[in-house]
Amino acid sequence: MVTRRRVLAGLGAALVFGFDPVARTWVSSAEAASAFDRVPSLDGVLLTDPASLAPYATDVGSAVHEAPVAVLKPGSVEDIARMMRFCRRRGILVGPRGQGHTTFGQSQVLAGLVVDMGSLKKIHSISATRADIDAGATWRMLVDAAVPLGFTPPVLTGYTKLSIAGTLSMAGVPSTNRSGCQIDHVQELEIVTGEGEIKRCSAYVNSDLFEAALGGMGQFGIITRAIVDMVRAPTNVRNYVLNYTDNATFFKDMRELLKRNEADEVSTLFTPDATGRLVYGLNVAKYFEPATPPNTAHLLRGLSQPPSAATFSDDSFKNYVDRVDTIIEFFESIGLFEGTLHPWCDVWLPDETVEGYLADVVPSLTPEDVGPTGFMLLFPQKRSKLRRRFMTVPDGTEWVYLFDILTAAAAPGPNPAFQAKMLARNRRLFEKARRAGGTRYPIGSVAFDKHDWKQQYGANWPELKQLKQRFDPDRILAPGVGIFT
Ligand SMILES: Cc1cc2nc3c(=O)[nH]c(=O)nc-3n(C[C@H](O)[C@H](O)[C@H](O)COP(=O)(O)OP(=O)(O)OC[C@H]3O[C@@H](n4cnc5c(N)ncnc54)[C@H](O)[C@@H]3O)c2cc1C
Repeated sequence: MVTRRRVLAGLGAALVFGFDPVARTWVSSAEAASAFDRVPSLDGVLLTDPASLAPYATDVGSAVHEAPVAVLKPGSVEDIARMMRFCRRRGILVGPRGQGHTTFGQSQVLAGLVVDMGSLKKIHSISATRADIDAGATWRMLVDAAVPLGFTPPVLTGYTKLSIAGTLSMAGVPSTNRSGCQIDHVQELEIVTGEGEIKRCSAYVNSDLFEAALGGMGQFGIITRAIVDMVRAPTNVRNYVLNYTDNATFFKDMRELLKRNEADEVSTLFTPDATGRLVYGLNVAKYFEPATPPNTAHLLRGLSQPPSAATFSDDSFKNYVDRVDTIIEFFESIGLFEGTLHPWCDVWLPDETVEGYLADVVPSLTPEDVGPTGFMLLFPQKRSKLRRRFMTVPDGTEWVYLFDILTAAAAPGPNPAFQAKMLARNRRLFEKARRAGGTRYPIGSVAFDKHDWKQQYGANWPELKQLKQRFDPDRILAPGVGIFT
């Protein structure tokens, strides 16, 4: 299932030679870089020296290593358009990249051009209803600027040091349950298409491009600027945790809380106990003003455990939003994030099968499957609120669930045996999910071939191919995802 280049790269073999994107042959890196002579004049910079390119030949997964031959740090949107037209003429592949926090080479481009969006990060305006922001900025930057003004995006990912366009290209799944994902809260986008045209689009103008780009994994254009929804920020958050070891009891209580719709967030974090058994930590968050704290007895009434069994913590909204960032910053500080293998498995499951799937899978996992700095999560989402056409989630069910096994290796550095074992596990668990009516959330490390993508998109596949032909006719964009190249 894994392409040859991915196996070579994935198992740590050094790619001494580059691939000449014009001649379509293997050549020395210097020869490949010569494809970038006579580039148009730019407001930003084009880097081609090996030291500058090295960070772009990896990502948070640390498994795929596909070196580009040039990196554009755009000084303007026009730079991206100019380079897109240049690359198109020469048949050079182009990969937009935010923070590189996908885990299986999605933002990498073998012997092509990486567009590092990090240099376009201006916040143009923030109001009570919208923020206008460059797509290379992170959600963290937006939150840092907006919360002191009393505003926030309506939905946020757990970790917020992800680029605006990075999550808008995937989905941006939050721990809130009834507000959809980040791609459901976009008013307008500015995009450089695969033909090098700068277009603005929304649900009303160029709506095909708008739909294709949201959750489009960079296949149709490079998102350069976004107008996203904003709402009033809550002041405080109380987060309750109820622990379960019985799958059926957990699902009964979680479904009851979802049905009541009284909590602001319901999600689950699985943590190993002293024996290595995974405990389901049901997190129930309630936003509140200091004068009116939540009524615990009422919120957690009638569950399998008394309200007093729940532990809880109160925090300011900002500290609550920063909680995962703080943990990841700690892992970074002890050298267990960058350069550590993160072979993640992420699947969507329908309501009918999620309970059986977890009943089988959770007990089968060992401490190695999660790792000392890994996480396992379950995010319920109301299906009717997930409105983007090309976000592939199960249909015909009121609730769908994102189940993430965010595995981390025990130590930094290559570990081919562990990597191969986890990739095989991911494929096995994905196939099991697919048989149960599930789909892949493509942030993680599940090997996919053309047939898998076709199956993933189902009835939408022919339309997706037409949109690709329309907006990226030479198929040069975001090859690391592996859908069309
Ligand atoms: C610690 C951690 C926690 C996370 N938590 C969550 C979570 O709670 N919910 C969730 O949904 N996800 C979560 N993710 C996954 C995350 O949403 C995705 O990996 C996201 O794509 C990362 O953004 P990025 O800026 O790093 O994108 P990258 O990895 O750089 O890019 C991702 C994809 O988008 C494309 N792309 C990047 N920029 C652009 C652009 N400007 N225009 C078009 N395409 C572009 C790339 O080519 C690539 O295909 C988490 C990731 C990490 C590391």
